[in-house]
Amino acid sequence: MNGALHDFLNTDLQFIKGVGPVLALRLSELLGGRRVLDFLLHIPRYVRPREISESILTAKSGEILTIPVQIISHKRGGTFRSGRRAPTQVVTRDKLGAELMLQFFGSSFLDAWLEKLPIGEWRIVSGRLEQGRGGATINHPDFIEKPENRAKIPEFQAIYPTSEGVTQRLMANVRDGIFAKLSDINIDAPNREFFDALRSIHYPTSNDDLAPANKNIMRLAYAELFAHQIAIACTRQRRKRGIAGRSVSGDGRHREKLYASLPFKLTAAQNAAITDIENDMARPEPMMRLIQGDVGSGKTIVALAAALNAAECKIQTAFMAPTDTLAQQHFAKIKPICDSIGIVCDILTGRDKGAAQKEKLTSIRSGRTQIVIGTHALFQEAVQYKDLGLVIIDEQHRFGVAQRAALTGKGDNPDLLALSATPIPRTLSMTIYGDMDITIIAEKPVGRMPIRTSTLANERIRALTARIASQIDAGAKVFWVCPLVTESEDMDFAAAESRYEWLKKYFDAGVIGLVHGQMDKKMRDAAMADFADANGKTKLLVATSVIEVGIDVPSATIMVIENAEKFGLSALHQLRGRVGRGSAQSFCVLLHGDNLTESGMKRLGVLVETDDGFLIAEQDLMMRGAGEMLGTKQSGWIPYHFVDYREHRDLFKLATRAALELTESDPALATAAATIARDLMFIFDREIKLEG
Ligand code: ADP
Ligand code: MG
Repeated sequence: MNGALHDFLNTDLQFIKGVGPVLALRLSELLGGRRVLDFLLHIPRYVRPREISESILTAKSGEILTIPVQIISHKRGGTFRSGRRAPTQVVTRDKLGAELMLQFFGSSFLDAWLEKLPIGEWRIVSGRLEQGRGGATINHPDFIEKPENRAKIPEFQAIYPTSEGVTQRLMANVRDGIFAKLSDINIDAPNREFFDALRSIHYPTSNDDLAPANKNIMRLAYAELFAHQIAIACTRQRRKRGIAGRSVSGDGRHREKLYASLPFKLTAAQNAAITDIENDMARPEPMMRLIQGDVGSGKTIVALAAALNAAECKIQTAFMAPTDTLAQQHFAKIKPICDSIGIVCDILTGRDKGAAQKEKLTSIRSGRTQIVIGTHALFQEAVQYKDLGLVIIDEQHRFGVAQRAALTGKGDNPDLLALSATPIPRTLSMTIYGDMDITIIAEKPVGRMPIRTSTLANERIRALTARIASQIDAGAKVFWVCPLVTESEDMDFAAAESRYEWLKKYFDAGVIGLVHGQMDKKMRDAAMADFADANGKTKLLVATSVIEVGIDVPSATIMVIENAEKFGLSALHQLRGRVGRGSAQSFCVLLHGDNLTESGMKRLGVLVETDDGFLIAEQDLMMRGAGEMLGTKQSGWIPYHFVDYREHRDLFKLATRAALELTESDPALATAAATIARDLMFIFDREIKLEG
């Protein structure tokens, strides 16, 4: 990119004609930046056509009408004695004599309006036409121009997303100022195509010009993806080359015992995942692998196999879960296996205190403890490992990238294995976890009966309780998930509490339990544990969506989810995965509002129809778009300017391939061919330090 172009893109908007510091400030709030470049990446949302019409008679109500009219009469409005306010009306006629009324409400600018519309003269007016009792009317036309100034009315007006104090007119002015300047700058050939496409999009002549399938949009989307993928590929390459890990390749003695002890055979997908991991660990560079597998696909065993591989080489593993409860659960499963193999496995959470904690820490420091399961506590300052070589993170999506880094800091470039039960379509995971290698476990253990899922309107909730009561009598255990009212935990908790009280009317109070995020941890764990315990009293557990994480209660067979329409499909699928873990038939009931729309019904129907988490995730993505699917809070969600996750999925592949080819042949992006990549990385703010 030549210096002039680069400098211009970096120019502060206040220096664009007609802007100045005040408007630049307002623009910066809208655009998230105050450079010319920030404006250019902010594109119109749609087009308002303002071609001149010949007659009012052919115009449709609700559409924009732009037409030359002659002013016939004025009728001044004002406030009547009754207090009712009448608009000021201007009667006009088109050249065929058809009448068009212009109406102005309020009183402050009346004279100004009337001055613009002198009786007997012709004006071109443009605005939204309403055909009502009063005939053809435009309220507050957007444009009123003399016929000789018709050029001031854009034939196709680009409508930008705006914010307070930023009008469409300002946006158009800024855009015109920028592109006028840009045409004076000599844009080098490789970038010309990009800026030409950008210009077409800022001056659209139809909504098709702004559709994801438009070739200019596709070109920009591709460029954006390419910039992103290059940045990822570079980061990843640097990781692979720059950091010395070590080769870990055990003799298999522990793993053999593990496999022999299992009451089942591993699925092919589990075996393939273990092979991927073993290969990674055998390489001298640190592993960075994400295992994605639907709930119940058996990721824990896969992770354990990795830990045993490390243990065979006398290397320690830290296995981190997002909550105490989950850590406990993993520990309860893994500890007996380790005992039988003859290696030391321990648990470390924030709860450990005093002498007991000290003892645990000493054992970890000495290297006696080979597998430590726990929460964030595993990475506190006090914890020192003899030789931490493998870090496993369960429910990876709960942890941010920064945390990932903190974890691996405890060892000497340890291998990292992340597990995630959030099935994210491949197109998305490439951008979100682009710096990781990914293995998907797409298969579930055989013999699992699919969960029978049904939808039910809220008004039938009483009938449902009766059915559930009889199931409980027959020995069933039930999860009852309460609506996600708001983002606030408080409200969710209130909903759960009142449902809990309500259910007490229909069930023996002793069998109902309650868990929510606001509860004291000890009480929550106790409530969970009682529900999980075969001899526990709790048969029906009322919960907020805190149970979404991998709580394993194989004997639970019924899942009720209230206000299911408020959840994303993937979240529902996660919740549903809490049942169907044993061999008995399980059920999931999706309660929904009584007036659920057809499309809402269709959405829930996806869950009734399929149990395939990836398919559900794809559907979710198709129906709601990625932003909502991942939730705004989700770390790693990438806001693109031009990319549409739904429509541009093929571009993801193309851009990724091109980025890999380039970074493999020219890792430093030093050749002339890589200049465009560098330019795009600058444009899309994906610059990374390439050296080092
Ligand atoms: P998730 O992938 O959701 O973490 P888990 O690892 O908790 O799944 O496994 C779910 C259940 O399936 C566990 O009870 C586990 O023992 C069992 N399981 C794992 N692999 C198999 C298999 N190959 N065949 C049968 N059951 C299995
Ligand atoms: Mg799990």
